[in-house]
Amino acid sequence: MIIPFLDLKKINQAYEQGLNEKLHSVIDSGWFIMGQQLSTFEKNYAKFNDTKHCIGVGNGLDALILSLKALNIGAGDEVIVPSNTYIASWLAVSYVGATIIPVEPNIETYNIDINLIEEKITSKTKAIMPVNLYGQACELTKIMAIAEKHKLFVVEDNAQAQGATCKGKLAGSFGQINGTSFYPGKNLGALGDAGAITTNDDELTSKVKTLRNYGSQVKYYNEVKGYNSRLDELQAAFLDLKLEKLATENYQRVEIANTYLHKLTNEGDIILPKLAQDCTSNYHLFVIRTNRRNDLQKFLQEKGIGTVIHYPVPPHKQEAYADLNFKPTDFPLASLIADTCLSLPIYPGMESNQIDYICDTIKTFYA
Ligand SMILES: *Cc1c(COP(=O)(O)O)cnc(C)c1O
Repeated sequence: MIIPFLDLKKINQAYEQGLNEKLHSVIDSGWFIMGQQLSTFEKNYAKFNDTKHCIGVGNGLDALILSLKALNIGAGDEVIVPSNTYIASWLAVSYVGATIIPVEPNIETYNIDINLIEEKITSKTKAIMPVNLYGQACELTKIMAIAEKHKLFVVEDNAQAQGATCKGKLAGSFGQINGTSFYPGKNLGALGDAGAITTNDDELTSKVKTLRNYGSQVKYYNEVKGYNSRLDELQAAFLDLKLEKLATENYQRVEIANTYLHKLTNEGDIILPKLAQDCTSNYHLFVIRTNRRNDLQKFLQEKGIGTVIHYPVPPHKQEAYADLNFKPTDFPLASLIADTCLSLPIYPGMESNQIDYICDTIKTFYA
């Protein structure tokens, strides 16, 4: 049996007829940037995410950069970010010229450890950027309370957790302004690059709408030095179609995760993912940990099962961040996760015999 880590072809083929109809309606409209498709999707995603506004942008990284820009965060300011994240979270802080203050994860949830945040707050701290990693919402109510106490902004990196919740409230709706990504491999994936900002704040909405479009609200009149980061009509139309099934697809992922959790309990030295109290996951990824990670990955590969490491090198060890002079030993938990984590296949449309095969193969490895 061959089971790819992610079958984007299969996922999108399920929408083929609808996607074709959307393509033709966009061609027929003759309008390709900032039109009706975008405003419809923005309205529907805001509704899905339970925020007043959604502002489509070019990708998830831009969503975070423009969010920080809209809050006037820049040189001299400090932003608290997790040490265990995809490098995009760090890059957004770097691009606005602010200083990255990494905080280690909780070793059970892999998300930022809320007990380590306050000791990193200084007079220069302007914001906390929690990352809802692997699809699990961070302990966002507690993070919001810390932020309120110290008068800090919260900017959620919600690229991976569309639909996850903390105490029943949606990830991406806690921070003053939040970014998400519709990169093809995300739970709501475009057929190209796309991202969005979610917020309840009218003024921040107006700022990012200006920033994403060359700093202009009225064509050829530029108030600020903006960017070109727009979500185009075609991707917006595709996303709006796929959004209808996002909740169902997230539920399918949860079901697969529950099967893994059930079948892999007490298997070898495997550490299964754990949820923080009152937090849910959309299971964007199903990440296990084992000291025999490389051998297990190789074994599964030989048996036709694709897996991926999220992520093999934490940001503080990346060559790109050599200038910050972190020591490799600085964030041991981020390093431990990088050295032991392995993501198993999880996506809508996976058959139960495929999940059984994966679990049986893992049992064979440990037997
Ligand atoms: C995917 C991702 C991003 C960036 O999204 P792009 O659309 O690829 O720019 C940011 N943060 C996290 C945690 C991500 O997984």
